[in-house]
Amino acid sequence: MVEKSIFERIIDREISASIVHEDELCIAFHDLDPQAPLHVLICPKKRINMISEALAEDLDVMGHLLLVAPVIAAAEGYADAFRLTINNGSGAGQTVFHLHIHLMAGRLFSWPPG
Ligand code: AMP
Repeated sequence: MVEKSIFERIIDREISASIVHEDELCIAFHDLDPQAPLHVLICPKKRINMISEALAEDLDVMGHLLLVAPVIAAAEGYADAFRLTINNGSGAGQTVFHLHIHLMAGRLFSWPPG
């Protein structure tokens, strides 16, 4: 059996997290090590290790994650300016291999990102 990801353990309430949103397709919670005043991770409940492994059948869930992000940003008081980031692969900084979107807001963000 494949070991659960840390985010599946949050979904299953085996470890605690500061959850800001949950629905049938996704869960969103504050990052443990925030890199901005608002730093939330939005994860599909379905285990998809990384975006490069998403399949055509994941179209609905992938679209859902993007539509939920601005709703959460607005609910947290950052409707106007926020950044979404997905790290794909350890070379791009991915450390947890359960797909997630970083939603960050509340500070200036440089471009290009580091
Ligand atoms: P990434 O490096 O893109 O894979 O992002 C993984 C993120 O998960 C990092 O920003 C971590 O701080 C965050 N993280 C790891 N474990 C937890 C946890 N138990 N609760 C909340 N955030 C976590």
